[in-house]
Amino acid sequence: MEALEILKRHWGYEAFRPMQEEIISAAADGRDVLAILPTGGGKSVCFQVPALMRDGIALVVTPLIALMRDQVQNLEERGIRALAIHAGMERREVERLLNNAAYGGFKFLYVSPERLGTALFRSWLPLLPLNYIVVDEAHCISQWGYDFRPDYLQIGALRGLTDVPVIALTATATPQVAEDIMDKLAFRGRLLLRSGFERPNLSYIVRRCEDKNGQLADICQGVEGSGIVYMRHRRRCEEMAAYLESRGISASFYHAGLDSALRTQRQEAWRRGEIRVMVSTNAFGMGIDKADVRFVVHAGLPEGPESYFQEAGRAGRDGLSAYAVLLWNDSDLRRLRQLHTVSFPPLENIADIYQKLHIFYGIPYETGAGRQLRFDLEAFAARFRLERAPVHYALRYLERTEHLSFSEDVEISTQVGILAAREVLYDIDLPDPRMVTLLEVLMRRYSGIFSHPVPIREEEVAAACGCGVPALRQLLYRLSLEHVIRYIPGERCSVIYLHHNRLTPGNIDLRPEQYRFLADNARQRADAIADYASETDECRSRRLLRYFGQEESADCGSCDVCRARRSGGAPQASDAAVLRWWNETPAPTLSAFRAHCADPASGMPVDAMERLRALIDAGRLSISPGALEK
Ligand SMILES: [Zn+2]
Repeated sequence: MEALEILKRHWGYEAFRPMQEEIISAAADGRDVLAILPTGGGKSVCFQVPALMRDGIALVVTPLIALMRDQVQNLEERGIRALAIHAGMERREVERLLNNAAYGGFKFLYVSPERLGTALFRSWLPLLPLNYIVVDEAHCISQWGYDFRPDYLQIGALRGLTDVPVIALTATATPQVAEDIMDKLAFRGRLLLRSGFERPNLSYIVRRCEDKNGQLADICQGVEGSGIVYMRHRRRCEEMAAYLESRGISASFYHAGLDSALRTQRQEAWRRGEIRVMVSTNAFGMGIDKADVRFVVHAGLPEGPESYFQEAGRAGRDGLSAYAVLLWNDSDLRRLRQLHTVSFPPLENIADIYQKLHIFYGIPYETGAGRQLRFDLEAFAARFRLERAPVHYALRYLERTEHLSFSEDVEISTQVGILAAREVLYDIDLPDPRMVTLLEVLMRRYSGIFSHPVPIREEEVAAACGCGVPALRQLLYRLSLEHVIRYIPGERCSVIYLHHNRLTPGNIDLRPEQYRFLADNARQRADAIADYASETDECRSRRLLRYFGQEESADCGSCDVCRARRSGGAPQASDAAVLRWWNETPAPTLSAFRAHCADPASGMPVDAMERLRALIDAGRLSISPGALEK
């Protein structure tokens, strides 16, 4: 079938968006292609359409479990069969899925990168009728990139085992990273397709301010529609959401510490507009397709331009006017530098933490390979009197150097097995009629449930029983007390997987050169974002585009720098703007002035209210008593 026909049939669109067609036709010709498309540029269509044009199944590598689930669900809704394999699944389930991928007529197999190197996956690989290898978030393969994941290097190894073409996709890559991606993926010919990164409807606004809470509330009140506020720390997200609520703004918070049902629930409520502003860590927004986000505010400095551009780019995907606001002050700058120190502890400390980790679990030298450990960072840090953050970053680096894998917030599914024999199940006198329904649902859905505990999807089972998840857990617990089932409640934890036996001190290769290189790179990114925030002489949009290798671009005309230039002054420097507004507005009032200043596009100085008072005190502005009271 033709590409356009597939698009119409499964997606209902009449035409491709810019660049999609080029990418699809290159892939359909069997060429390796790297596509750089900004967030919201319709990335998935670029590999889903070519995969549907060919027989066989596309292997899609992506690190984001939430995104994986969304996409599988999305494809299923379009009548396309798709599977996903990710961390936290039982071996038996993985085997079943791989068997389906090989023989079940499925079109897409989503896998997280760490699966690729497993013996289980490798043994099934020759049986899979692959048509493409799709690499999502392809920048993760590059050591030059801001989000390198060593597991991604496994993808390069796959190329020796199958000769299908590669479709690599990413939203951000500097020219250097793009080259590196094509190298690491062993491209057979270099083909880089990049769509323009201009976002003409997005106004970049930078504000240096001390009172972020007040600024943020003003922005939320001044700009209508949905918004996202990014903050670094979970606790601050909670506080800020509470503060906004106290100012009468519909807000909630989101971070990886919430359990998945709650996260899904909040995300959906925000998507439907029931929650207007989501205050979140960077865990939020990835893969969420909401077109009418009117503002994205960063209440602090992000780690670098890459993540900033990606997160800010979630505003205004519908093409209507939207704002990307960055609020910062000197303490953010200090924190950014501190973060660098914390995230790159001395290598000796990392080697030491490696040993302590083994001591923690009582693993002697020359043993431990292949062990999977549930890891409690808090307990570990307490036992050895260490700060938590350096431990976290040390483990991350041990992962990079392939000594171990470190997965945080892994969700282990709830598992249930039925202990009673099928024949006698109906004779058991159960205290609650809902238990009978529940057992029937379980038997219908999970065929192996009589022989061994199987992972269950709590939301689906609860829905089928007509109750909520908490009620379901209650019922399961009570059934287990009756010895009818075996119930292993799911949990969230961190997991460490040891790649090899414990090494003696002095024998751990921590690749000091690579470490220095990474540290330098991180510092450069931090410098770049600090410059972006503090400099006021170049159009914000131009500056960002230049960073991503787009040399030619025009002034956007709508960022704070462009606006200030137009009104002839530094963005935050003049009393003139205050005076001008007051003199030019018919019947000005204090509340109208406040509302005007809240609009980030107004170009008003951050301290406009204080300036106004000073101007009144200095007698430079006459004002009727009525205007002040309102
Ligand atoms: Zn501009």
